[in-house]
Amino acid sequence: MTSTSLWHPQTAMSTIEESLTVIASGRGASVRTEDGQDLLDLPAGLWHANVGHGRTRIADAVRRQMADLETYHLFQGMANRPAIRLAERLAALSPIPDAKVFLTSGGSDSVDTACKLARRHWQLAGRPGKRVIVSRQHAYHGLHGFGTSITGIQSNRDGYGGDSLIPETARVPWDDLAATEAELLRLGPDNVAAVIAEPVIGTGGVLLPPPGYLTGLAELCRRLDVLLIADEVITGFGRVGQWFACRRFGIEPDLLTMAKGITSGYLPLGGVLVSRRIWEPFFAETPDAPTFRHGLTYSGHAAACVAAEENLSILEEEGLLERVLDLEPVLAQALTPLRDHEAVVDVRAGTGLLAAVQLDPDADARPVLRAAREGGVLTRLLADNSLHVSPPFVITAEEISRAADVLKSALDRARTLESA
Ligand code: PMP
Repeated sequence: MTSTSLWHPQTAMSTIEESLTVIASGRGASVRTEDGQDLLDLPAGLWHANVGHGRTRIADAVRRQMADLETYHLFQGMANRPAIRLAERLAALSPIPDAKVFLTSGGSDSVDTACKLARRHWQLAGRPGKRVIVSRQHAYHGLHGFGTSITGIQSNRDGYGGDSLIPETARVPWDDLAATEAELLRLGPDNVAAVIAEPVIGTGGVLLPPPGYLTGLAELCRRLDVLLIADEVITGFGRVGQWFACRRFGIEPDLLTMAKGITSGYLPLGGVLVSRRIWEPFFAETPDAPTFRHGLTYSGHAAACVAAEENLSILEEEGLLERVLDLEPVLAQALTPLRDHEAVVDVRAGTGLLAAVQLDPDADARPVLRAAREGGVLTRLLADNSLHVSPPFVITAEEISRAADVLKSALDRARTLESA
């Protein structure tokens, strides 16, 4: 039994004592452990550190805000100025024209918010039977109630009541439009509220959408009058070289969830971009206009919103989205040769700074992670036994090439150990 009081998320606690790594500080694309080892942070934490670590500019802005006011809630006509400003800025960047912005504390919150809004939309539209939320195999949408019910990663669903946790959900193949259409027709479009999709599936293994898949999905949803929710918790805020992946892939969802890169992790924050079709009844200036009975104490937390504003300014002023596009082929070219390694099943890269090196699903990847770490490179495993690669945007081409070399020798060493 471990002696720690801290219960780690998504962790087999029996492994903690031998493998605990405490990160003490970070600069740019690297973090430093408590023992003083510098590690290139290939996963950018949990895909969050878009502008990189150690941005004192964000810390200073947050300190100034907190000295004036930590936060004030947004319920019942109250507000704080940073939340109002941030919403304007997000609406201007949104791939959904004329969007309204509902702020939350993180990605799972945003997913719950979007799923509730989708169901409420149809209830208000006089079609309350439209309640099913359809998601894709391998999908990850956080681990709140809705997220647990709709994930396509089975191990995250097991043990919580299965299909009765949030009733009326369904899953479809991640890449097959014909099968998705067949399932929507089987469920009956009169029963389906929304399809939710990560433009690039993240935790499931960085699965890039097949060409035409996302536009096809958007068209299918429109044709069957089903809402489309884009979960951009990972892909938002520059990860694929545009403010949102929906822009890059040319789709306009009805709802868009965001978190992580919205503050680059400097404080917890999330949000949902909402299209006119959905927000309109709630904003009607009539006495019987409905209220969205939903919200969090920290919806629009003032200091978190200031962190987001500063983060957006850094992304803009330093041209970091363009930098992601410049580095996109550099990362793909550095990792692709690993495909020839006998321990590697697949390398997926080529859309922004988002990649995965997939190992044999049954292989013990821990020696690879350990060897990489000894070479100064931090990575971790995604759900399909892939090495997670989504570095901060400030990573240099030289650091990318060093990371690829270290991963290659880590794979070589792990293979040698195995056969020894
Ligand atoms: N959606 C997606 C696509 C995610 O990747 C994540 C987190 N990895 C979430 C939702 C949940 O976000 P959070 O952990 O901030 O609740």
